[in-house]
Amino acid sequence: MPDPKSFHLPPEEFRRRGHALIDWIADYQARIESLPVLSRVRPGEIRAKLPPAAPLQGESFDQILADVERIILPGITHWQSPNFFAYFPANASGPAILGDLLSSGLGVQGMLWSTSPACTELETHVLDWLVPMLGLPEKFLSTGPGGGVIQDTASSASLCALLAARERATHFASNRKGCDGRLVAYCSAQTHSSIEKAMKIAGMGSDSLRHIAVDENFAMRPDALQRQIALDVEARLVPCFVCATAGTTSSNAFDPIREIARICGEHKTWLHVDAAMSGTAALCSEFRFIHDGLDLADSYTFNPHKWMFTNFDCNCFYVADRKHLIQTLSILPEYLRNQATESGAVIDYRDWHIQLGRRFRALKLWFVIRHYGVQGLQYHIREHVRFAQQFAGWVASDARFELAAPAKLNLVCFRLRSGDEKNQILMDRLNASGDLFLTHTKLDGKLTLRFCVGQTNTQARHVERAWARIQRETADGES
Ligand code: PLP
Repeated sequence: MPDPKSFHLPPEEFRRRGHALIDWIADYQARIESLPVLSRVRPGEIRAKLPPAAPLQGESFDQILADVERIILPGITHWQSPNFFAYFPANASGPAILGDLLSSGLGVQGMLWSTSPACTELETHVLDWLVPMLGLPEKFLSTGPGGGVIQDTASSASLCALLAARERATHFASNRKGCDGRLVAYCSAQTHSSIEKAMKIAGMGSDSLRHIAVDENFAMRPDALQRQIALDVEARLVPCFVCATAGTTSSNAFDPIREIARICGEHKTWLHVDAAMSGTAALCSEFRFIHDGLDLADSYTFNPHKWMFTNFDCNCFYVADRKHLIQTLSILPEYLRNQATESGAVIDYRDWHIQLGRRFRALKLWFVIRHYGVQGLQYHIREHVRFAQQFAGWVASDARFELAAPAKLNLVCFRLRSGDEKNQILMDRLNASGDLFLTHTKLDGKLTLRFCVGQTNTQARHVERAWARIQRETADGES
């Protein structure tokens, strides 16, 4: 008998409301192109529409859904619009949304194998699937000394890599005593800011992060890395970590992993490779050049939540030798002790990341891979790259514009030749139009527009329309 005083949503009512919400999401997908891509609200506008205090008595689901439409939707920047070309994508898909919903429905907290064996085993299995799917080195398979784990973000994964590198370099002394100020790490001047943040969190300090110079294509210069490491060694410092990027955030530059790895090998320095967005391109064999040298890396990370149709958050993190990671992060309080863990026959992923608790994220990735199949995923990645290359071609053939960096995959960095002010005006006009959304960076000190093709539903017509809009906005004011 249900508790007559209960405020919970009974299963039948949940079913009805659930259907209504799925209908709402499907309708949203159908009308998304009619909405301005970049939210137009001013700061504070959303909060001003919300009551100052929480309701004392529960409200109807219809009221809640009506407020989603009235209050929330205007404050949404539509990342799932096919006209979203900003930042790097955070693309979602039907199967991923349903997998995520199932994860919520099961409500599993998968900190240990024993707290839901399927949560751990599906994750291990799907991460092993991805190794041949992406042509990753076999040492990342769980069947050897390495293995993979799903984390929330690339920032967390890179922090874990840094922590494991720190401990490997100090024979696990930093874990006990803290850092002594001698550890140094390296990345390029174009590396994502998450590495600097990781240095702060790891207690190594951002002053101990060396930003190595880049070449004319914005890729790390191995000779500069070599020189800096030699200087540090001479100063009795300990080089413990290098982060190479396969697809930098600003311009999608690819650091020469193989040459960097050779230098890391000489100094026994941990090599981490961050392929946050571009890693997904390796689904297609013709794009695997981005991973050349990865077989020499100690760890690797990429985000299916950027370009692999798996909604945020879903990061894959691989290590070549899991013992350093586990020894760095493992703590076993009495209340978590259990037979399966003691037997050593299972993976307890709580030892593979910062937090204890974990969601069943593998479900959405599993749904995506099974729905699309490898060939379906390859098709869409190839299409995105084709559209971006076409766009780059149009830019190159218009004398008013220049390409600001090589467009190797799905990101095109371009600008008007007539200077920062004109580029700023162009970007502001485009984004205010509501027809598309793109963002900027600075390359060689110049304001540069970034056009990234990676949203799930972007088709050739969206890219053509974006270019037509750019042409229109530059027709009168610019030349
Ligand atoms: N690394 C690179 C190269 C990125 O481009 C980004 C974000 O765009 C990140 C790391 C951080 O990603 P996350 O939000 O998953 O921490």
